[in-house]
Amino acid sequence: MSARILDGSKIAHDIRAEVAAEVKTLAVAGVRPGLAVVLVGHNPASEVYVRGKVKASEQVGLYSEQHTPPDTVNTDELLALIADLNRRDEIDGILVQLPLPPQVDSKKVLMAVDPAKDVDGFHPVNVGFLSTQRPGLVPCTPAGVMEILNRSHIPIAGQEAVVVGRSDIVGKPAAMLLLNANATVTVCHSKTRDLTEVCRRADILIAAIGRPGMVTREFVKPGATVIDVGMNKVTDAAVFQRLFGGRLYKNAKREDAFRAKGSTLVGDVHPEVAEVAGALTPVPGGVGPLTIAMLMYNTAKAATMRRGKKQWSVVSG
Ligand code: NAP
Repeated sequence: MSARILDGSKIAHDIRAEVAAEVKTLAVAGVRPGLAVVLVGHNPASEVYVRGKVKASEQVGLYSEQHTPPDTVNTDELLALIADLNRRDEIDGILVQLPLPPQVDSKKVLMAVDPAKDVDGFHPVNVGFLSTQRPGLVPCTPAGVMEILNRSHIPIAGQEAVVVGRSDIVGKPAAMLLLNANATVTVCHSKTRDLTEVCRRADILIAAIGRPGMVTREFVKPGATVIDVGMNKVTDAAVFQRLFGGRLYKNAKREDAFRAKGSTLVGDVHPEVAEVAGALTPVPGGVGPLTIAMLMYNTAKAATMRRGKKQWSVVSG
């Protein structure tokens, strides 16, 4: 058996096209949704993410602007910037790229973002809306997971869903979204007993752990849907060999790229799971592209909701 590969890049492309169409409709009403990204200092990984977000904003027709305080910035200075962005009507979404430098009180800064502009969906007000099933802004990655499931016609209601990982940005909101969609949800973490057994009960298994290839075939019930949220940069040749060394998973293209670059991006799910699962998201090209697409979606949704219009229903979430 070989799992159906769920093409996240294609789904993300469709969502971005839908957001672009919505942005055009809003333009007729004189509204151009605006996204402000706050990037502190010079963290190369963060700079790459932010570039991707700004480029995607341009592609779907959003207004976007970047704020780049130096890495010596303090909490009060950032709070002043957030207050200004909260006040400006043309800004619908505020995204503070994490991590912030150690001298900054990150929680205080994130709490200061107006919940109506909190396109990351991290503010406790939005967390509360999600858990009480009220309209709000939902964290982008878990919202993207739900889009993959829904658009791939994977049944959710009544299914056993197991989420491995309980972070505030992925595991917990993913569990809440699945519960709201009537799955029977179990959340696992590093202290879970018999993790393999628990995972093997899942009709839908979400891996959001941050450990390359940890979910092997023993974790997976035959035919289950496996969503791999993990994004791990592997530089160790032994780890690469463990994941891609077997005859079945040999991947010449990936091997060449690993040799040339000295690293490769892998998920939390071992490639051998493709033999057992019914459906599987690849890494790269699975959940990753959805995160930016859902950020675009959230910005347009925030623009619509802030102006008191009916909740936009182009995509679920
Ligand atoms: P995180 O905050 O480090 O949380 C990891 C979770 O996994 C924790 O709840 C931890 O349990 C659990 N865990 C760690 N080792 C475990 C083990 N051996 N057995 C069972 N559970 C274990 O990570 P995150 O921010 O949620 O991210 C998870 C992964 O998703 C990372 O690879 C990250 O890069 C990726 N990610 C991808 C996207 C995307 O766009 N595709 C977005 C965000 C994150 P404890 O709580 O007990 O410590």
